[in-house]
Amino acid sequence: MRTLIRFLLLLILIAGIALGGAWFWGGRAEGPAITIVQPERFVGQATTLQVTVETPGGDLSDLDVAVEQGDRRFTVASMTAAAGTALTQESADRVSLSQPIGKVAIPELASGPARIVVRASRPVMYGLRQATSSVEKDIEVRLEPPRVSVLSTKHYVNLGGAEFVAYRATPEDVTSGVKVGDIEFPGFPASGAGIQGDPALRVAVFALAYDQDLTTPISVFARDEAGNEAATAVGHEAFPKPFARSRITVDDSFFARVLPEIVSNTPGLDLSTAPDDLLDTYLAVNGDLRRRNADTIRELAGDTAPAMLWKGAFNQLGNSQVESRFADHRTYFYDGREVDRQVHLGFDLAVTANVAVTAAERGRVVFAAYLGIYGNCVILDHGLGVQSLYAHLSSIDVTAGAEVEKGQVLGRSGMTGLAGGDHLHFTMLVNGYAVNPVEWWDPKWMQDRILRKIAEAGGAPGGSRP
Ligand SMILES: [Zn+2]
Repeated sequence: MRTLIRFLLLLILIAGIALGGAWFWGGRAEGPAITIVQPERFVGQATTLQVTVETPGGDLSDLDVAVEQGDRRFTVASMTAAAGTALTQESADRVSLSQPIGKVAIPELASGPARIVVRASRPVMYGLRQATSSVEKDIEVRLEPPRVSVLSTKHYVNLGGAEFVAYRATPEDVTSGVKVGDIEFPGFPASGAGIQGDPALRVAVFALAYDQDLTTPISVFARDEAGNEAATAVGHEAFPKPFARSRITVDDSFFARVLPEIVSNTPGLDLSTAPDDLLDTYLAVNGDLRRRNADTIRELAGDTAPAMLWKGAFNQLGNSQVESRFADHRTYFYDGREVDRQVHLGFDLAVTANVAVTAAERGRVVFAAYLGIYGNCVILDHGLGVQSLYAHLSSIDVTAGAEVEKGQVLGRSGMTGLAGGDHLHFTMLVNGYAVNPVEWWDPKWMQDRILRKIAEAGGAPGGSRP
């Protein structure tokens, strides 16, 4: 009998230890995996907090999100007060929460450091215990909008042309630039244009695209990481530019000469509609491929030096005959009927066949390869978002990344791509948008529009190599 009682007591003891152990280990089970996706560092007027929580089976028993500042605590979301908490089931194991935490949502928030605290629990041991985890992130509340003011004077913009502005933007870590309608042009520290001394000074080259309205608003803007933005208008005058209209007749012999080369050099060109129809193929090349090429050119705009690599006016190809001008509005005829309309965004310059094509100014090669309608193509970066493009080359003598001096040979003219004969298609680009090169070839324009403003801001223009 006593043996039996002892045995039972021992059994109870073992069960107790096992239960206690399970309880203990259950308590040590890992809580949900919490990630604060946004904000990265700054919170402004209307910042949104983004949190993901991962747990097996998506089984969440508690979620508490708060912003702490000093000894104050603002609850942003909690599962116990589930109303208004926007949880999204992203996958079987993952939920996400998106909640405004800016000054608009939390009016008591003040500028300065703060902390986001997220706590989440999941049930373990059949719900007898909770496994909890928490994550904190230090943030900075920024409520003061940046300041921006224009320094340079006399801004004259031609339709399809470029302009230059010097301005101040504070605090120093803001993103700033020029907005022309919906199009943004990045600003750069003015030291890149040889203007020293004031770290708040910025410069930007911007353009009024050939197809924008003359009354398009132009402003300088500054935006901080907390999403606060300031903008001020750039006083300017805009001038119309008459663009030529021309008729271009295309025929099967032209198609047969240019299309096979373009198609074989352009992987992914969609000719599925009518692979055997030369006219359809031509229209796909002249339309879709032209747009794709424009996208590629715009992507290359980000590859620019934060400094002005050029010193003065750009060179036009020597002794060249102008065959077509910037923004020529072309109507295409085939077999007597209109089949297409496109705008020619460059200058066609002809000398003789296979003439040496030289760099219009100092720069760095950012592209040297086949590019659809442009055939063998070189793009040079001159800094501050300014680039030049050389197309239809028969051969290329430079490689991407190479630094080139003004006048250095880039390759030989030719008729690769969509070219009717041997010529150089040349254009200037401002942040990837084609602008009229006539301005850049003109020493007086360069002096009045760019070099004067740099000198007036206290700079020694041009020629810096970062
Ligand atoms: Zn051309």
